[in-house]
Amino acid sequence: RAVLAGTMSLAFLAACSQNDEDGSGGASEGGTVGIAMPTRASDRWLTDGKSVVQSLKARGYKAKLVYGDDDPKAQVSQIKGLIEQGVDALIIAAIDNRSLDGVLQRAADADIVVISYDRLILGTRNVDYYVSFDNEMVGRMQAHHIIEKLGLEDGKGPFNIELFAGSPDDNNTKYFFDGSMALLQPYLDDGKLVVPSGQTKIDRITTLRWDGPTAQRRMSGILTKSYGGRKVDAVLSPYDGISRGVLSALKSAGYGSGGRPLPVVTGQDAELDSVKSIIAGQQSQTVYKDVRQLAQAAATMVDDILNEREPEVDTSVDYDNGVKPVPAVLLQPLSVDKTNYDVLVQSEYFTADQLK
Ligand code: BGC
Repeated sequence: RAVLAGTMSLAFLAACSQNDEDGSGGASEGGTVGIAMPTRASDRWLTDGKSVVQSLKARGYKAKLVYGDDDPKAQVSQIKGLIEQGVDALIIAAIDNRSLDGVLQRAADADIVVISYDRLILGTRNVDYYVSFDNEMVGRMQAHHIIEKLGLEDGKGPFNIELFAGSPDDNNTKYFFDGSMALLQPYLDDGKLVVPSGQTKIDRITTLRWDGPTAQRRMSGILTKSYGGRKVDAVLSPYDGISRGVLSALKSAGYGSGGRPLPVVTGQDAELDSVKSIIAGQQSQTVYKDVRQLAQAAATMVDDILNEREPEVDTSVDYDNGVKPVPAVLLQPLSVDKTNYDVLVQSEYFTADQLK
């Protein structure tokens, strides 16, 4: 605790110790696993944390769960703390993929297994395995939804679109964007899709730490500067929190009322507020990634490694982290919109009541 105290607020420490309590317990013959999650500001990571703890406990492990509150330095000290507490393995969803080399050297020196969770950790040899979803497919699903909704395949257009990408320090960001652009680029090339802001290059459109208000400000600025007499038809958004920021900007500019429909807005993570927004006909789509399955995959992997079994990996993918190829397991995402959101209830991700 003392190690952590230097960089963190009291409120955060309180939350931290609560998580510790939640995470501990259970039979401990299997050992102890440290789990470092990026933020409590989004539903999905709360579900991840809870699910990883449950999956580990079910296999006889103790778990210590910490959240870095989107501060890369805080995450580094938390991981140091977990190493000092003698964990046997670490499951890490990085905040800044490039900030962990130093601390992971300590993990390697202490013979601690490191699983890169959801986001690939870059620039270090001290990461053993990667578990995630097919990230490029996520981007393709968002683009596919836009193409379908606008009727681009039927030759309709031209339409105005604006592009948003995720955090520049998250390795997934470029996979999402490249997946989307693989499908959208042909329509941009033949003029059926037009980007009035002119902002199409990835470094121009990223959203630091996936922050909704940052996206809202960028969207408002674009509407003021580039949309005089024009209307937005679609917004490519990589994450539900960004989508909600974009929708707020659009509504403040008069979209969604007075005969001005909201554009098609994509998303990711099936966050409760966004699913409700989809049901209400505002956000148009999200990508459902059942993170309970991701948690299972991570826990199974840790269990295999600590018991000297070779973990099953997906041999068709080679995720290079800049230093070495990291063996990976990739799960399948699912596109969700107004027509199929029921899958979230059927799979018990949400109860029917929560969606009311
Ligand atoms: C995850 C997404 C998530 C985003 C923001 C990404 O690394 O893969 O599911 O929307 O981070 O939290």
